[in-house]
Amino acid sequence: MVEHFKNYINGEWVEAVSGETYENINPSNIDEVLGVFPRSNKEDVHSAVNASKNALNNWKNTPPPERGCIISEAARILASRKKELAEIISLENGKTASGGLGEVQSGIDMANFIAGEGRRMYGRTTHSGLKKRFAMTKKYPIGVVGVILPFNFPMALTSWRVFPALICGNTVVLKSEENSPETTVQFTRILEESGLPKGVLNLVHGFGSEVGEALTLHPDVSMVTFTGSSTTGKLIARNCVSRHAKVSLELGGKNAVLVMEDADLDLAVDGIVCGAFSVSGQRCTATGRVIVHKDVYDEFLKKLINMTLSQKAGPADDDTSVVTPLINKKQLVRVLEFLERAKDEGANIILGGKQLKGGVYDKGYYIAPTIVDNITPEMEIAREEVFGPVLSVLKADSYEEACQIHNTSPYGLSASLFTKDVNRSFSFFDDVEAGVCYINAPTFGSEPHMPFGGVKQSGQGYREVGWAAIEAYSEVKTLYVDYSASIQNVQFVNEK
Ligand code: NAD
Repeated sequence: MVEHFKNYINGEWVEAVSGETYENINPSNIDEVLGVFPRSNKEDVHSAVNASKNALNNWKNTPPPERGCIISEAARILASRKKELAEIISLENGKTASGGLGEVQSGIDMANFIAGEGRRMYGRTTHSGLKKRFAMTKKYPIGVVGVILPFNFPMALTSWRVFPALICGNTVVLKSEENSPETTVQFTRILEESGLPKGVLNLVHGFGSEVGEALTLHPDVSMVTFTGSSTTGKLIARNCVSRHAKVSLELGGKNAVLVMEDADLDLAVDGIVCGAFSVSGQRCTATGRVIVHKDVYDEFLKKLINMTLSQKAGPADDDTSVVTPLINKKQLVRVLEFLERAKDEGANIILGGKQLKGGVYDKGYYIAPTIVDNITPEMEIAREEVFGPVLSVLKADSYEEACQIHNTSPYGLSASLFTKDVNRSFSFFDDVEAGVCYINAPTFGSEPHMPFGGVKQSGQGYREVGWAAIEAYSEVKTLYVDYSASIQNVQFVNEK
C-alpha cells in the first residue's frame, strides 16, 4: 500500500490545509508511485512560519552546546539507520544504494562537525581606539530561515543547510523538493526523535511556485537559503531583496577540467568520466566541459571514448549502474533539446546523444553518455549547464588559452586541472574563476568542514558548509564596554 505522508508543523504531522496531494514517482520505474504527499499552499507555509517564529525565543536562548547535543544525537540515529535511509534515497532519487549511503554519510559527517561548532561560536575581541574601552563581536541567530533545495542530494543538502541553521539558533521552515520528499520526512523524524523542541524545524511539502514562492515572500522569514538552478535563484533573490531578507544562493555550474600536455591521461580520463557521467551528470559539480591541450588532444579523446563506452546505464537497484535515470521527463526533454541546439550550432556528437530505449530503459528516462566536440567557447553547449550525461570537449593551444576558455562560461562553481607542474597548479588557483578548485582530481568531492560555493552565476557571494556556514547563518553584533567613566567619542579623538 502506498503511504500517505504529511507536513510537520509545530511538532505535529498534518495534512495540507486544502487537503490536496500529489504522487511521488520512482525514476527507475515510472509506473510505481512511492508515496502521496501534501500539495501545500501559502496557508500551510504561513502556519509553518508562525510555528518557527513562536519557537524562536526559546531556541535562541538554548546554549549552542546544548543545541549541539541534539544534533549529535541526530548523527547517531542517522548512522544507526544508514542502510534503510540509503534505500529510500535510492528509490526516490534514482541513484544507486551506494550513492545513497554516501549521502547519508555526508549527513552524519556534517552533523558531527556542526555539533562541535556549538562549542566554537567564536566572536572577536580587539583593542579599541580609545582608552579604557572594550571592543568585541558576538554571533546571534538571524531568525526564521526558509530552506529550499534541489532534487539531486536530498539527504546531504538537507543536512548541510539545516544543521548549521539550527546550531546558530535559528528556527527553520524546510520546503521539501517535490521529487525527493520522503528523504526530508525521514530527516525530520530523526530530529524529532533526537529531542528537537516542537516548532524549531517545520517541514512543508509541495511545489516551487506554490510553497517555495510563499516562503520567499513571507514577511517573518528573515533568511532564505536556496540551492538550485541559477534561473530560480534569480527569482528568489528578487523576492528576498525586495523585502530586505537575507538570501544565500548556491546555484548551477558548467564545471571544467583542464588537461595539460604533461598530465597523467589515464588518471584524467578516470576522473572526467566519473565527474561527467555518474548519476547521469545530475550534480552541481558535474564535469560539463573538458579543455584539452592540443598536443594530447587525439590521444586523450581516444582514451575518453573507450572509457565512456564501458559506463553502464541502468536503474538504481543495480549497484553497477553508473548512468542512472534522469529525475523526470521534463529533464529528459531539456537535455535532448540542448543536444539539438548544439547540433544546429555546428557541434559534433561523437558518442551517445540519444535516449536509451528497450527493457529497463522504458521504465525510466535515460540518455546515453554523450561526448560532443567541434565546439567553440561561445556556443551554448560550452557555456550553459545541461544537468545530464553530456560532456563538451574543447581544444586549447596553451595553458593560458585553456584558462581563458574556462572563464568564458557565466558560471564558476568548480574547476580542475590535471598536470604534473607544481607552478602551473598554484597559478591555476589564481587564474581560474571558480569557487572550488582541484588539482589532479574530479570536479566534485567537497568535504563537510570546508566552505563550498561559486562565483559569477553559480552564487552571489556567500559560502555555505564548513566554518563558512556559521557566518552565513549568524548576525554579528559589535559590542563596546566603556570603563573610562567619561564620555569618549571616537570621531573626535584627535581634537582632544
Ligand atoms: P530548481 O531550481 O528547478 O528547483 C530547486 C528548488 O526550487 C525546488 O525545491 C523547487 O521546488 C524550488 N522552486 C522552483 N521554483 C520556485 C520559485 N518560483 N520560488 C521558490 N522556489 C522555487 O533546481 P533543480 O532542477 O531541482 O536542481 C538542479 C539545479 O540545482 C542545478 O542547476 C544544479 O547545479 C543546482 N545545484 C546546485 C548546488 C550547489 O551547491 N551550488 C547543489 C546541488 C544542485
